Amino acid sequence: MTRFIDSEQLAQLLETIGLTAFLQQLADRIEQDFKRWPMFEKCPRLASHSPIGVIELMPASDGMLYGFKYVNGHPRNARLGLPTVMAFGALAEVETGYPLLLTELTLATALRTAATSVVAARALTRPDSRSMALIGCGAQAEFQALAFHHLMDIRELRIFDIDPRAMDKLQHNLADRRELRLIRCASTAEAVAGSDIVTTVTADKRLATIITPSMVEPGMHLNALGGDCPGKTELDAGVLTQARVFAEYAPQTRIEGDIQQLSPDFPVTELWQLLTGAAEGRQSPRDITVFDSVGFAVEDFSTLCLIRELAERLGIGRHIPLVPELENPKNLFALTRSQRTAAA
Ligand code: NAD
Repeated sequence: MTRFIDSEQLAQLLETIGLTAFLQQLADRIEQDFKRWPMFEKCPRLASHSPIGVIELMPASDGMLYGFKYVNGHPRNARLGLPTVMAFGALAEVETGYPLLLTELTLATALRTAATSVVAARALTRPDSRSMALIGCGAQAEFQALAFHHLMDIRELRIFDIDPRAMDKLQHNLADRRELRLIRCASTAEAVAGSDIVTTVTADKRLATIITPSMVEPGMHLNALGGDCPGKTELDAGVLTQARVFAEYAPQTRIEGDIQQLSPDFPVTELWQLLTGAAEGRQSPRDITVFDSVGFAVEDFSTLCLIRELAERLGIGRHIPLVPELENPKNLFALTRSQRTAAA
């Protein structure tokens, strides 16, 4: 039988494990999987674009297990009462193709995105980084804030969103984190000034320039998440050309990331090269580093594996007959007959 986990059950799993412990385990798992990068079968995600959004399929396999995620990105969804990003996914064993897990991945995507941001930031930020600007206070924002606070010791968060209600929501949700000083800013420039790390997680389907070269200071690390689709960016091209740029999987990021604005031979280092020591990261405290994140299938694979292990250990989720349980595997037709008999 396939283990099925819905959104409430995943929330229950998180409550049992603890959000910080889950983020820690997930960041470590993603880092380990990126360190065994050559073992993975990889491809840029398959994207179906429309004028107002995108629907994507993201597969990855390590030869033992195969995972995929279905995810959308529709920046105008909030007006309809729906999240911008919604996702679910599955994990199967390669040997038989049997689906082991079917799970919600909307909440899990926010967690894995924050965990991946931390994996990159651990390798790229100045060790004395204690403040972060957070531009965009939507669905992903709290997860970024908490991951950087608990896993990177960020103590000051300077927030800005064009929607004041989004900032109200973030302040409300983080009110119990007394060790995290929250500063509400009146503009992106005000939030970014003096910050060690800048996280951009805005949603707008256009070539936006949230961060311009004049805002960027020596030594900053930019964690750029919202430019993740053709025709959708956050960083001015001049920010990228003065920085050292890191990406999850260059063939996908060149299509979807902020570097879509630059020539195809613009130098980019992949995260796995940085984590394995095959490539150098920050070379001086004055370097400007950019993690041009778009989200990659291996991160979802790591997430699916961790959810499966924890759910099994804690007995969370339920078993469903997603594929037929047959006495004689060649007699699929028997299934139709038994259903008819039951109905009669
Ligand atoms: P959301 O719609 O819930 O929140 C986006 C927020 O950005 C909104 O509050 C909006 O008011 C704000 N915003 C829009 N334009 C702005 C601007 N110019 N300045 C300041 N704030 C602005 O969306 P979300 O789920 O939080 O996702 C945010 C972005 O992150 C999306 O673009 C999504 O595609 C992307 N994302 C990336 C990854 C990744 O792995 N890189 C993963 C998940 C989501």
